[in-house]
This record gives sequence, C-alpha cells and structure tokens, in this order.
Amino acid sequence: NPILFWFRQDLRLKDHPGLQAAAASGRPVIPLYILDDTSPRHWRMGGASRWWLQQSLAALGSALQRSYGLTLVLRRGSPTDILPALASETGADTVMCTRQYEPWAADLEQQLHRALATTGVELKRYPGNLLFEPGTVLTQGETPFKVFTPFWKSCLARPEPRLPLPPPERLVPASPVPDSESLEDWQLYTAQPDWAAGWSERWHPGAQGAGAALARFLGEAAEDYSDGRDIPSRMSTSRLSPHLHFGEISPRAVWHASRQAARDRPALGDQIDKFLSELGWREFSYHLLHFFPTLPEKPFRETFGAFPWRQDDAQLRAWQQGQTGYPLVDAGMRELWQTGYMHNRVRMVTASFLTKHLMLHWREGEDWFWDTLVDADLANNAASWQWVAGSGADAAPYFRIFNPVTQGQKVDAGGDYIRRWVPELAELPDKYLHRPFDAPESVLKTAGVVLGDTYPEPLVPHAEARQRALDAYRSLTG
Ligand code: FAD
Repeated sequence: NPILFWFRQDLRLKDHPGLQAAAASGRPVIPLYILDDTSPRHWRMGGASRWWLQQSLAALGSALQRSYGLTLVLRRGSPTDILPALASETGADTVMCTRQYEPWAADLEQQLHRALATTGVELKRYPGNLLFEPGTVLTQGETPFKVFTPFWKSCLARPEPRLPLPPPERLVPASPVPDSESLEDWQLYTAQPDWAAGWSERWHPGAQGAGAALARFLGEAAEDYSDGRDIPSRMSTSRLSPHLHFGEISPRAVWHASRQAARDRPALGDQIDKFLSELGWREFSYHLLHFFPTLPEKPFRETFGAFPWRQDDAQLRAWQQGQTGYPLVDAGMRELWQTGYMHNRVRMVTASFLTKHLMLHWREGEDWFWDTLVDADLANNAASWQWVAGSGADAAPYFRIFNPVTQGQKVDAGGDYIRRWVPELAELPDKYLHRPFDAPESVLKTAGVVLGDTYPEPLVPHAEARQRALDAYRSLTG
C-alpha cells in the first residue's frame, strides 16, 4: 500500500525525518499539499505568505519530480475530508506528516488521528521544524520556562541537536497518481494589481533559495552580525525567517552550518553565538505557544486584560500606510508593504509606536503583520507583539517606550534607510531627517518638504503620548 506524505510547513527534501521514514518503508509515496483555509480560522494564511507559498510549492514540485520522478498532488479543502477520501481512493493505510505547533494545527492533528483511525489508516507525525521539541526543555520543577535566558541556557546544556539528514536516496512513485489541482488555478497571488512587483528579485522561495540565503549570511554578513543586526540599512542578518517558517530549511541545518563556520573561522565565534540565540528566541516562542495556546489572542500577563486600549481607525490606517509623521516608523511600515519584510529593530520601534504612542491594541498590529509579512509566523509574531506591548512572557517592561526620533538617530545615523523608504524627505539634512517637525521653515523649503502636505505632521507629540501611555499603564498596576 502507498503512503500519503502530507507536506505542510516542511517544504524541503533535506533533513526531513518524516520523508526519510517514508523512504525507509520502501513503499510507494504520494506527496501531497493541502491548501486549508478553514482549520486556521482567524489565522488563515495572509496575502504575503500566499505569494511565498505559491513559489515555494512550485519549487518543491520541481524538486520532487527531478529527484524522484514524483508528482506533488495539490488539493484544496479540509484535511479531515481530503485525507480519508484520498486514503480510500489510493488504498493508502498510512499518512505521514511533520508536526506543527499552532494550536489549530495541533487540534487538527488530534481530529485527524481519530478520523483516520476509524478507517484503519494510521497518522504518523514526525518532528523536524524545531531544535528541541516542546516538553523536552523544562525547569527543574518540570514546568515550561517563562524567561528566555534560563530557557536558552538549558537548551545549550543539552546534547547538540543531531546532524541534519541528507535527502532520501530514493522515493518510489505510486501508480496511478491521484488527480491534482493546479497551482495557477489556486490564484494564491494575482498580479492585478501587481503589489508584489519586484519581490522575485529580492526573495527566492524554496529550499535552494534558503541554502543561498544561509551561504550569503555565513560567507560575509555574519562577521558583522552583533552590531550590524541593529542597523536597518545593512544586510547584516540572514533573511532566513520566511524560509524557516515554511520549513524550506531546518533549524538543525542552520545550527550545524553556523557551528561549522565558527570552527573554520574562530573569529566568528561570538557572532555565531548571538545568531544562534536568535534562533533560540524562535524556539522559545514555539515552546510558549505550545504551552500557552491563547498567546496569539490573549495577554500572557493577565493584568493587561484591563488595559485601556484606544480605538482609532484613522490612526491605525496612518500607521499601516507609513503616514505617522515619524520618519523611522514610516520607513519601516513602507518597507513592510513594499517588500513583505521589515528589519527587526524597526519592527520593535513600529510596534512600540502602535501600542504605546497610539495606545492601539497589539492585536491590530499582529493582524497587519500577519497579512503583510512573508515570514508571518504565529509563534514568532504573537510572542514578539506581546513582548513589545509589555504583556508577554519575559517582555520588555511597558514603561520602556522607544523614542522614534532618538532610535532613528541611533540606528540610521546617516539616514540611508529613511531616505530609501521615505523619499519625500531625502533632501532634508541629517540633523532634521529624523524630526522634520523641528526643522526651520527655510530648511523644509529648501528640501521641498511641506509638512501636512508632502509629509504628515506627527500623529501625536512624543512627550505627550509617552505620558499618556505611562498613565494608562499606572492605572493598570495601581
Ligand atoms: P536573523 O537575525 O538572521 O535571525 C535568524 C532567525 O532567528 C530568524 O530568521 C528567525 O527565525 C529567528 N529570530 C530572530 N529574531 C527573532 C525574534 N525576536 N523572535 C523569534 N525568532 C527570531 N519573526 C518571524 O519569523 N515571523 C514573524 O511573524 C515575526 N513577527 C515579529 C513581530 C514583531 C513586532 C517583532 C518585534 C518581531 C517579529 N519577528 C518575527 C522576529 C524578527 O523580527 C524576525 O524573525 C527577523 O527580523 C527575521 O529576519 P532575519 O531572518 O534576517 O533574522
């Protein structure tokens, strides 16, 4: 009997424990991807992720065909309907997949397990997308860690994650191959209007693109990681986040390649430790989501349930469109819209601005990022938003409010990032680039800037907004 191999967020062939198990069985394999827009409910894949998925599935389909002569079968609908039907159509008695950690996905796995069992089909789940499975890294009291540093120390004290697996040598095609829907018909991304124009030059979805991104990073960028990672105009970070989200590369492969680079070039050691600790934040977020499945919806720290969030659709729209009147915030929001990505430091500043300066709910920001990021990831996005908002586990304290002007002066001193994304301010001298509202009229005029016309006045004055946020926070904590 054939095996149904159900691909999910594991769109790769290398270091794939599930696929290795399918190969080891020696039985014919039917590779399958299901576009499921119902089970995730609110967390249905957003627009930018769909663009990525379309390219990534095309890449996986070609790799399966080229390497094994296998056809990737595409179906749309609920896995609870599709998998039992396909198993009975093909005579498969086993469905294999890689485990996922989103609460809706974990529920789905339980439902499927039961539904398939009634028809005599076994669901086998494999790890593969984390360095350490949730539940294997616990405090001495056997409880989940709620603070990052001891969590990561405990991870590092464990045996190293095992070496990545090569791709399976051989996978046996099944015959006949079940019908497949066509990727084009899914219209995951429509080019009218072409909001993702130019993305294909910037991003290379698929395992090959993931390998190239890792090689670029370890080849040169890593040398500058610790400092450079805070400078948004530099390419000092790996840009691996969408590849990791879709499982085009495993974190184990990233771990071992990085360690090897540090062995080959000992001067890289500290940079690589810092880089791996960022992968550690990814692990931490996943473990948190596993143990606290309401993380994407509810404040981790319950006192924040009473926070007096404001509602202001016009201000929310101004934030989304990069029209807040604070250049660093606007540059970040426009980078996000135009590229599907925003630099980490700027994510922190824009998120702080939304939740503190505007006092709009972090869930509004979480939703916007969900739709617009190519690396939108339930665990990382939820944990990061709560971290910035102050309501999360091991969060930045609420009263630490980023000043968008001084942040800009610090991380974009030469103004390259702001000039790139907010070109209407490009002619301003560095002195006023981060605070056009303080520039004398003559300076604005020479630079062709008319506040309130070519560039907005600030939505809120910094000092007042800061005080309002602190007062609200105090009302919460008494
Ligand atoms: P690198 O610096 O090269 O880091 C390597 C990898 O480590 C990343 O690819 C990522 O998988 C992981 N990582 C790095 N920083 C973090 C972090 N703070 N938390 C968790 N994992 C991390 N990351 C996402 O992958 N998806 C999201 O939806 C997401 N939403 C965010 C929302 C906010 C408000 C903030 C402040 C951060 C968010 N991040 C998210 C975390 C971080 O900004 C991105 O992972 C990072 O910018 C990706 O760029 P990179 O791959 O070049 O990172």
